[in-house]
Amino acid sequence: MDFRLTDEQKQIKQMVKEFAESEIKPHVMEWYEAQKFPLDTVKKLGELGVLGAIFPEEYGGAGLSYIDYVNIIEELGVVDSGIGLTVAAHNSLGTGHIYLAGTEEQKKGWLPKLTSGEWLGAWGLTEPGSGSDASSMRTTAVKDGNGWVLNGTKNFITNARYANISVVLAVTDRKDQKHGISAFAIEMDRQGIRPGKKENKLGMRTSDTSEIVLEDCRVGDDNILGKVGYGFIDAMKVLDGGRISIGALAVGIARGAYEAARDYSLQRTAFGKPISDFQAIQFMLADMATEIEASRLLCYRAAAIKDAGEKVTTASAMAKLYASEVAVRATERGVQIFGGYGFIKDFPAEKYYRDVKLCTIGEGTSEIQRMVIARHVLSHTHATI
Ligand SMILES: Cc1cc2nc3c(=O)[nH]c(=O)nc-3n(C[C@H](O)[C@H](O)[C@H](O)COP(=O)(O)OP(=O)(O)OC[C@H]3O[C@@H](n4cnc5c(N)ncnc54)[C@H](O)[C@@H]3O)c2cc1C
Repeated sequence: MDFRLTDEQKQIKQMVKEFAESEIKPHVMEWYEAQKFPLDTVKKLGELGVLGAIFPEEYGGAGLSYIDYVNIIEELGVVDSGIGLTVAAHNSLGTGHIYLAGTEEQKKGWLPKLTSGEWLGAWGLTEPGSGSDASSMRTTAVKDGNGWVLNGTKNFITNARYANISVVLAVTDRKDQKHGISAFAIEMDRQGIRPGKKENKLGMRTSDTSEIVLEDCRVGDDNILGKVGYGFIDAMKVLDGGRISIGALAVGIARGAYEAARDYSLQRTAFGKPISDFQAIQFMLADMATEIEASRLLCYRAAAIKDAGEKVTTASAMAKLYASEVAVRATERGVQIFGGYGFIKDFPAEKYYRDVKLCTIGEGTSEIQRMVIARHVLSHTHATI
């Protein structure tokens, strides 16, 4: 077991860090306040290979490992987790589902556009009436001649307004409990599919979160991803990978909050000395640093299992659960260390505090992660964790 990154891994991490600091940081508060999706900047991430990070070179991807992916998302999270979320939803959800379940023809047709950043991808599982209980979705796909007709509304879909293609989950057989849901990859310029309401959000405001509305949207059999009836099963596998990226995003946000608080504590004086001299502040920083380190290790562990091609359901749930809850605590401490300035938008602490909450909700709430982990530990009573 070697916890050190290779020189190549360090270089990739550094490249993304430099990009985030030069291309995102100077503009981020302006975009954030206006809730502007920075499409040009996202496209530049495509040029860097970030939008095809985890896909093989034969599909135009960068062929990187999940460990690299964790590092990339962490570095984006430090500067702006909204852009990190955009990249994560594009990579591990939208594009990831096509890579996991698509035919060779579908992959050759769509992946090079997605991995280069020419296209952006989205992934629609959630609906207004079903999030955690996603299998109770109402969107339907009805067989009609050579194709299918889809109706329904997906909501809270990251990238929906800017996506060129979206994966949409729909009921194809209401009576079949296990194999009643199928996945479709639908080009967003088709008739009958469009982005709906754009959400006004607490945080992650540079990411786009919108509905996808399907009104008699007709697609062909060549839009089905994977076998009919296996969409939900594949979606759960897609989330196994996606949750690692939300864990990494949480690590990035927590690290950003920690670094800002640490630097501030060295400069701010009270009672004639820097506040970093007070043990109360030191202990907060010590806890933040330790918990962030532990979170990152859980993300690396899940990434290594994923890279080895093994089942990663429990490891990714643990990484996401722990990292996101640590990050919520760390950003709260960050605001506390900044005192009144932590409440003011001229300083970075409050943005981290607002952004972070999504990490305990998106891609399965903390409660759902605990259910996944509990199911595993209770069915493996002979095993040590
Ligand atoms: C910014 C943002 C981006 C998102 N991006 C996407 C996306 O790209 N694609 C997509 O498909 N979805 C996306 N989502 C949706 C997200 O995954 C869901 O919001 C999330 O899964 C929770 O579902 P819900 O909102 O319906 O909450 P609910 O399922 O209604 O949950 C409400 C509360 O009840 C709890 N709860 C529910 N069931 C149980 C249970 N059995 N036991 C204990 N507690 C329970 C939950 O933990 C939560 O606390 C996004 C959401 C946001 C806010």
